[in-house]
Amino acid sequence: MRFLSRVPFYKRAFPHTLRSPIRNMNTAAANEVLYALTVGNAPTRPSPEDVLEKSHHTESGFRNPWESFRDLSSSEIMQMMISRRLSGKGNSPDTTPPTVNVRKPQFLPTRDTPKLRSTWLGHACYYVEFPSGLRVLFDPVFEARCGPCCGPVTLGPKRYTEPACQVKDLPIIDVVVISHNHYDHLSYPTVSEIAKRHPNCHFFAPLGNKSWFQSSGIQNVTELDWWDERDIAMSPKENRGSQVEPVGEVSADAGIKARISCLPCQHITARGPFDKFKTLWASWSIESGGRKVYFTGDSGYRSVDEVPDGEDDYDPKYDFPICPAFKQVGEFRGPFDLGLIPIGAYAPRHIFSAAHADPHDAVRMFKDTKCKNALGMHWGTWVLTEEDVLEPPRKLKEALKKHDIPEEGVFDVCEIGESREFE
Ligand SMILES: [Zn+2]
Repeated sequence: MRFLSRVPFYKRAFPHTLRSPIRNMNTAAANEVLYALTVGNAPTRPSPEDVLEKSHHTESGFRNPWESFRDLSSSEIMQMMISRRLSGKGNSPDTTPPTVNVRKPQFLPTRDTPKLRSTWLGHACYYVEFPSGLRVLFDPVFEARCGPCCGPVTLGPKRYTEPACQVKDLPIIDVVVISHNHYDHLSYPTVSEIAKRHPNCHFFAPLGNKSWFQSSGIQNVTELDWWDERDIAMSPKENRGSQVEPVGEVSADAGIKARISCLPCQHITARGPFDKFKTLWASWSIESGGRKVYFTGDSGYRSVDEVPDGEDDYDPKYDFPICPAFKQVGEFRGPFDLGLIPIGAYAPRHIFSAAHADPHDAVRMFKDTKCKNALGMHWGTWVLTEEDVLEPPRKLKEALKKHDIPEEGVFDVCEIGESREFE
């Protein structure tokens, strides 16, 4: 369906004073206008030459097509972790409070948004309010544990910090973006509740995840391959259904537009013991109203060997290959006003670096992707690995210093529930 204006969407001002016929009676924002979302055709933009080769596709699923990735099986990881524990090398992070501060988030009550605004809701979950009026939720998981359900019991680690809020507290959700299917990024109870409370919300996920959403009762889902993108348009909804009421005329200018781009990153997927690499993982770019946000999802940057204690794995003598995808993202889709970049779940490096960035990798990703500002994520919520829970923000400052980037005001960490605004 063709819906795009010939005028670039970001040049058309969103009418902040708009009042249209339908108000959302189903969310915390009782005065909010309901919008119908349409997913349009794929735009054609330049992408790297190797994209057509689809080198990340395999007969049975997907792979990381770079030297920077090294695959370890779950049983190898388990054995290495156990032997570290037995030899006394392993670290069990202390989660005794205080750790990361949690505050009650303040969301804008309407779509009026003077500045790009981002709120960290713990781990990899960010809620982004675009000046166009668009509201995007990334990798939402609101449960105490991130793991599979076994009858009434949910397995997996338990939060050591409280969630900032619950799904019911989010006033508007137009788009949910999922990076991949690991339980700390994709939760059945959370997405089910979002779909129930926000029936017009549209989910975007990497290839191979559509059937999971459909079997979870969610039909508003688009799955994309790396470098695929879709334009979306939202317009005030006609008066249909019983949960809405007419309140006035629709402006001819009404509408919110955005471009959602699925992009590569280096990771692994599985929700069970037999589906490793069957679905794709991705980073994402969202452009709306002239502002661009890059969500890295969950990603490694290199695969490093074990180096002696006290040695830097970025020492030139090691020269571990880096993932080329981030420079391509920066070149073909950057620059970005804001990057949401993982900084946690990285230790020990020789076990986790292939799939999880440490703060030094994160700063490289920040530079490669041409982000003007960034906020850290993928820390402060569940203990997934061995680093101390407050180490990621400390290491981030070290890494920023090493790259001559100010330690504050460019690539920051927030408190859980804190909002930041960007010019
Ligand atoms: Zn993951």
